[in-house]
Amino acid sequence: MTIPFFPPDLFEQDRQTFKDLLYEVGTDPEQRFILGRRTAALEAELRLTTGAGHVIACSSGTGGLNLAVQALGIGPGDEVIVPAFCCQPVASSVANLGATPVFADVDPHTMVIDPDDVERLISERTRAIMPAHVFSIMADMPRLTKIARGHGVKVIEDAAVAEGAVLDGVPSGRWGDLGVFSFFQVKAFGTAGEGGVVLTDDPGLAERVRMLRNHGQDGVHRFVHHHIGQNSRFDEILAAFQLHRHAGFEDRLERRARIADYYTERFAPLAERGLLAPPAGRDGRCYYVYSLLARRRGDLRAWLTEQEIGTHVYYPVPLPGQPAFARYAPEGREWPGARYASDHNLAIPIWPHLTDAQVEYVADSICEFYA
Ligand SMILES: *Cc1c(COP(=O)(O)O)cnc(C)c1O
Repeated sequence: MTIPFFPPDLFEQDRQTFKDLLYEVGTDPEQRFILGRRTAALEAELRLTTGAGHVIACSSGTGGLNLAVQALGIGPGDEVIVPAFCCQPVASSVANLGATPVFADVDPHTMVIDPDDVERLISERTRAIMPAHVFSIMADMPRLTKIARGHGVKVIEDAAVAEGAVLDGVPSGRWGDLGVFSFFQVKAFGTAGEGGVVLTDDPGLAERVRMLRNHGQDGVHRFVHHHIGQNSRFDEILAAFQLHRHAGFEDRLERRARIADYYTERFAPLAERGLLAPPAGRDGRCYYVYSLLARRRGDLRAWLTEQEIGTHVYYPVPLPGQPAFARYAPEGREWPGARYASDHNLAIPIWPHLTDAQVEYVADSICEFYA
């Protein structure tokens, strides 16, 4: 049995639809390939399902973070607190505007940003906190939003991997002043290319994001540039494809959650042997990937490879240890939670069209390793 980490046939079910949409958009007399009515329809659909006041489609999750940081007017002299263990755009979106990413440590079990460290790092230069939901778990948004409010700073919620997740009844992407989803292919609501959205309830911020994504134009007057913006536009073919795929999204999420429930139950007894599964439950969970913390990670990984099960190690070097961000890593400061997560995380397959037999086989193989 060969089970790759990412599905080899992600869009097989949608193959004909994709071809039809390609033809439809390509031959539409309108000849509009970006930011047309299909993009607007997708934005409307996501407003409906998330309850957000405004949804603005853009070129990627990274593009969304860039737009969010810029929309808040963050620049040189400003600081934004970001997780030390995460995808690099949390830091580059800040640094690219001349502002300073300040790395907070993460919790060594949940691997999301540690609110206590965030609170310690707030200074008079802090303009925003940028928590990210990671792998399977949403960041502690109730505490983080409270800290932000207490200090008068904004929250940019990196929900790139967490579309569809809900914490305390509030959907991911809705906790921050601005939230971001990614449509990168393997994300929860991935697509056959690049894309993302910014969500906000603030009409002023929404208007700025909308203009910034298209060279600072207002969508009415062409060649009038209100702001120095970016090119972060969204594709009409992918908008139509995402509208089509959205119908099955909830079912796919539910299937992922069920697989996760099963794994978590099977792995619970292995905690004392050095394998830690994500905390059980459904609240604040997003099963983009299912990541374990394994004490003998290298051996476990080699064993699973032998069993023909694909695995993945994310972020093997925390962001402050990256050459690109060395100047933002103050001498002597350490991020032990991030280091631990980098050294021990191991993700196993959780894609929704795994069969029950495949899921069982993955769990059996891991239990066998620890037997
Ligand atoms: C994937 C990801 C991003 C970036 O999204 P892209 O669409 O790939 O640019 C940002 N943050 C996190 C946590 C991610 O996992």
